[in-house]
Amino acid sequence: HTGNDILSATAFSETIPAKAPKEEAAGHHSRRTFAIISHPDAGKTTLTEKLLLAGGAIEMAGAVRSKGNGRRAKSDWMDIEKSRGISVTSSVMTFERDGITFNLLDTPGHSDFSEDTYRTLTAVDSAIMVIDAAKGIEAQTRKLFEICRLRDIPIITFINKVDREGIDPFELLDEIEEQLALTVAPLVWPVGQGGLFKGCYNLADNDFLFAGSDKTVHYDGGLDDPALIKALPADIYAGFRDSAELAAEGYADFDPVAYRQGHLTPVIFGSALQNFAVDQLMDLIAAHAPSPRPQPSDKGPVDPDGDKVSGFVFKVQANMDPKHRDRVAFVRFCSGHFRRGMKLDHVRSGKQLAVSNPIYFFAQERALTEEAYAGDVIGIPNHGTLRVGDTLTEGENFRFTGLPAFAPEVLRRVRLEDSMKLKQLRRGLEDLAEEGLVQVFRPSIGSDWIVGVVGPLQLDVLASRIAGEYKADVTFEPVPFNVARWIRSENEAALQTFIRENITHVSRDRDGRPVYLCKDSWDLRFMMDRNKDIAFDATREIV
Ligand code: GDP
Repeated sequence: HTGNDILSATAFSETIPAKAPKEEAAGHHSRRTFAIISHPDAGKTTLTEKLLLAGGAIEMAGAVRSKGNGRRAKSDWMDIEKSRGISVTSSVMTFERDGITFNLLDTPGHSDFSEDTYRTLTAVDSAIMVIDAAKGIEAQTRKLFEICRLRDIPIITFINKVDREGIDPFELLDEIEEQLALTVAPLVWPVGQGGLFKGCYNLADNDFLFAGSDKTVHYDGGLDDPALIKALPADIYAGFRDSAELAAEGYADFDPVAYRQGHLTPVIFGSALQNFAVDQLMDLIAAHAPSPRPQPSDKGPVDPDGDKVSGFVFKVQANMDPKHRDRVAFVRFCSGHFRRGMKLDHVRSGKQLAVSNPIYFFAQERALTEEAYAGDVIGIPNHGTLRVGDTLTEGENFRFTGLPAFAPEVLRRVRLEDSMKLKQLRRGLEDLAEEGLVQVFRPSIGSDWIVGVVGPLQLDVLASRIAGEYKADVTFEPVPFNVARWIRSENEAALQTFIRENITHVSRDRDGRPVYLCKDSWDLRFMMDRNKDIAFDATREIV
């Protein structure tokens, strides 16, 4: 190693107390690192809050989305988030219950922020799919599901809002089975719906959670237990018994192996708002969701049992504290037993990194963490050393693979209001590209930047953050391009010729890779047909 790149502490890590070391014995087998995938409004925030509550991480419901009360410094840094009422940041929340450490990685729900969301899904071992019982599978859920499927991420389905009038439960099950090609195994079944909602029944262990109370009653006799018959109004019991029997017999039994392989999803009907079946959900995660699995690298899968520490950066967030120009790189560990102060190899630069102030996230709080295992996520404050896709190891030379970048679907030229602010603009674009908020392209001809985003709302966020954090006002102008593709070829000469002949259409991304820009998919197909030896990639791996 040639030099030491010692990261300096930033404001919050200096002022927060250190968290006591966790149980030595715990290790990665007790880790459950997961995300919630859902369409906006399905109830992700409410469920998150209830999970944190159940895990003792917050004392009072309402804390997650209590807007504008100053205590939420972590995400209040962004005005646009407040004004739009959407969460545009992902973060990690850790809580513990019965010896299991849950690491919940938050995925921004708005469809415009999918790139960040996709990358967060590379850092989880399983996912919970939240579906609104009144709406069924919605667009964003389906998109995120596809990403999970690509990575064989096992999914537990939580059908939310059963306390309200919704779609027939059987229809919902069939929709999942047909549209997502997943075998469904109903585990917790609703008793009545809407105004007649009486609670949830666990088909596997015959526990009944009664609505309107915290009471769980176990029925030895199952669905025909006389005490259960007595506990419900006759008409509701009759309807419930028939449907529950059909649910138990007409669908697959829960098979933990098929679930972990991603072929089967256990289904829980519940209500996040009323805290129904949230405990069952946690129990299911604890009992069956996978602990860290081997992660792909260029030298083969990295086993979580390995004793050398390794991890990768799946997200970078700049300016979390507006008073300090800091960035936090979120690292997911994949093997070994990390301890604070360790020196890790930063494989991309070949330098060493002393990780002296790793941050651990406990609901809304942060603390310095003394140690971490595979599956855990820490934040490392730094000044730009760490980038998305970077690998950290304990003296080993390999890189984790599989972190995707997606070709943007909206392209705009950046117009700076005050040309004296060029430096600020460049800095802002670099930082925000680092975060994955935007992709930045340098055309071969001309000096303007072209920015690319996945959805147009990101442009508002971009302008607002460049103005707020970098003091430069920008507007965006249309460009004659709507499609971007990374180009590459086995035949280097052919690639160079292509670039020369299409110079007005070729830009460079921030790593200098050539990107072909064109008007529409028709033009793209035309060029692809004429240039068979050039590959036009809609995604590329960040390595
Ligand atoms: P997100 O956009 O997925 O984070 O959704 P939220 O958690 O913000 O929930 C959207 C709306 O649905 C809010 O008004 C919640 O109060 C409501 N909601 C969430 N869970 C339930 C539930 O189980 N039952 C009912 N009736 N409403 C719910």
